[in-house]
Amino acid sequence: MSRFPEVSFMLSAAAGAQFPADHGVEIAFAGRSNSGKSSAINAITARHGLARTSKTPGRTRLLNFFSLGADRRIVDLPGYGFAEGPREERAGWAPLIDALRPRASLMGLFLVVDSRRGLSGSDLELIDWADPPHRRIHVLLAKADKLTRAEAAKAQAAAVSILGGHATVQLFSALRRIGIEDAQDRLQSWLESGAAGAENKVPR
Ligand code: GDP
Repeated sequence: MSRFPEVSFMLSAAAGAQFPADHGVEIAFAGRSNSGKSSAINAITARHGLARTSKTPGRTRLLNFFSLGADRRIVDLPGYGFAEGPREERAGWAPLIDALRPRASLMGLFLVVDSRRGLSGSDLELIDWADPPHRRIHVLLAKADKLTRAEAAKAQAAAVSILGGHATVQLFSALRRIGIEDAQDRLQSWLESGAAGAENKVPR
């Protein structure tokens, strides 16, 4: 039985005007192109093919929204880090993520990082964008199956040291199913605590 039995694709947005209504709880998934983000979304939601893997690098300029049930969403950000000129790349999708940033329903970010590469400057920019500690950040060190136990421990320690208290970090592998349950627990608890927070804001 899937932890998120109601998961479904909602819409792709090329502009802020196309975003779903800003209520409920939304969790963003971001990562460099080829970091393993799509595979992570598919493994966590247990829905093969929900997020499309192995896209043409740098071509995706859309935000994809998935519903995990009433007023609970994942928003899949375009992969970054492939374009030669960071400025051009940023110009392509900055307006979209700038439009996403102020949403009240956006309560956290799952950042997918290739565990062999570690955190890049663009990853750290994304973390700033999410505005911790105002929003929660969880880093998945993906493709951990490619590391030895010692390398994995080192990768995790390096990420923890860079991030300080700004984010939680875990090892993850969609392929070898490492850390999937931990990631599901985290996603579910964020969705639930966010939903409780949103309900508290409803005037009585
Ligand atoms: P995205 O571009 O960040 O969405 O990454 P994808 O999920 O499309 O994965 C990029 C590449 O990494 C593909 O060739 C995947 O098969 C591979 N990949 C993804 N997850 C894993 C994993 O857990 N382990 C290994 N070894 N490869 C993976």
